[in-house]
Parts: sequence; C-alpha cells; structure tokens
Amino acid sequence: MSVFNNNFLSGKISLVTGSSRGIGREIALNLAKHGSYVFINYFKADKSAMDLKHEINQFGGNCQLLKFDVSDSNDVKASVENISKEFKKIDILVNNAGIARAALALRFKEEDFDEVMKVNVKGHFNCIKYCLPLLLRSDSPSIVNLSSVLGITGDLGNSVYSTSKSAILGLTKSIALEYASKGLRANCIAPGFIKTDMTALVSEEVSKIVLSKIPLKFQGEPIEIANCVLFLVSDAAKYITGQTISVDGGMVMK
Ligand code: NAP
Repeated sequence: MSVFNNNFLSGKISLVTGSSRGIGREIALNLAKHGSYVFINYFKADKSAMDLKHEINQFGGNCQLLKFDVSDSNDVKASVENISKEFKKIDILVNNAGIARAALALRFKEEDFDEVMKVNVKGHFNCIKYCLPLLLRSDSPSIVNLSSVLGITGDLGNSVYSTSKSAILGLTKSIALEYASKGLRANCIAPGFIKTDMTALVSEEVSKIVLSKIPLKFQGEPIEIANCVLFLVSDAAKYITGQTISVDGGMVMK
C-alpha cells in the first residue's frame, strides 16, 4: 500500500530513461500507478518495454514507449521533439539509464571508459539539456538523477563506474542552482545493492562481501528506489533541491 494518494500525479507527464528493466521499470510503474502519463525510454530491450506498457495499460495507466540512446544527443533531441508535438510540458524527468563495467584501473580498456562516461554522464546531461525547455513549462518541474553509493564512497575494481556516478552529484547540484529561480528542483538518489540484471552479474562470493557491509543486512528491491522517487517528485519534497538521498540499507556509512 502506498502512502501517497493513488492519483496525486494525475495530469503530470514523466520521462523515465532506461525503464525497460530493473530500477527504471519499477520507477515508471510506480509513477503510472499514481496517475502520471509516462514515457518509457529504453535502448535495446523491446520485449521488456512492451511488457511494461501492457502492464501499465492493464490497470488503466497511460504510457508510451520511446526508444532512444541517451548517449546520442541527436537521438535525444529528436525524441524530445516528438514529446513536444503531443504535450506542451514535461513535469518529471528521471535520469535512470546506466551501465556498469568493472575492472581494476590497470586493466581498464579505454573503449569501456568512453562507453561508461557516454551513457552514465553524457546521457544524463543530454536528457536534462533537451528536456529543460519542456520542464520549465511545468508548474512544478522536478528532475531525479540516479547516482550510486559507489559515487560517494568509491570502490575497488569500479573506479570508472564510481567516477561516472560521482559526476552525477555535481551535475545535480549545478542544475539545482541554475534553475531554482524557475521553480525547478533537481535531486539525486544513490542506490546501494539492488536486485536487478546489473547486480545479477555479481558473483556469490562478492555478493556475500557486499551484504556484510549493509547495516540493514538485506539486498534492496527496485521498489525501494521507486518509492524515494515518488517522494522526491511530490509536494512533500517541495523544499528539497540539490540533495542526494542514499537508499542503501545504510551501506554508505560503512
Ligand atoms: P539494469 O537492470 O542494467 O537496467 C539498465 C536500464 O538502462 C535498461 O532499461 C537499459 O535499456 C537502459 N539503458 C542502458 N543503456 C542505455 C542507453 N544508452 N540509452 C537508453 N537506455 C539505456 O540497471 P539497474 O540496476 O536497474 O540500474 C538503474 C540505474 O541505477 C543505473 O543508473 C545504475 O547505475 C543505478 N544503480 C543501480 C544499482 C543496483 O544495485 N542495481 C546500484 C546503484 C546505482 P535496455 O534494456 O533497452 O538495454
């Protein structure tokens, strides 16, 4: 049961990047369940995205698939132009699309460095830049960026991913400062160890080590993050901007 009124996002238009799977999927579902019209962005997973659309339509929710590569500025620009043909505004932008590549710095390939930065940093920036004109037409515009606990703490074997996620902290604060006078809020969520395809690749041995560093002693589900997004885009958070909330079972304190 949600603590929020079921339809409190009625009339709001949301774009959630990378919402075919994992955390993004749950965020899109939760926004739609609370009345928002949701643009489901994804890159490759057509079937998963179509399944999500079907699930949303089944409970009477409204959504549309929007396939584009967040790291390609022309693709983002054209897709946002398509939104603007149908809607005059965007109220909520959730920058969730992200990839992870792990290796010690000495062995890290340059092409992997470029790919991680392109998707995780340039991808967030592209979506903010091209959505801003539509966001500024909303009476309560809100951006939520997905960083990571590793962007705060750093991590052995994850220097590039951590770097990309640290960049999101600076990006969030800068956007929050640049557009506060227009009523736009920008915040950041730093998830810990959440059950998705991304963490399914982690070996059992490493999983045990990570779990031992979580004070609450369990792995989070995507809904933990989706509920925090709901709070951040709601009026309950109307005095919060430029902040990062760790949703990680306390992992950031260890
Ligand atoms: P995931 O299960 O691997 O899903 C990633 C999503 O991003 C998919 O929907 C994927 O779309 C999309 N995507 C990837 N590259 C894209 C691109 N170039 N353009 C558009 N969409 C793209 O990942 P997740 O675990 O849900 O993670 C979501 C976010 O949370 C990421 O930013 C991640 O860094 C962050 N995070 C996750 C955890 C965790 O424990 N899971 C912890 C900290 C932070 P396709 O399916 O179409 O490829």
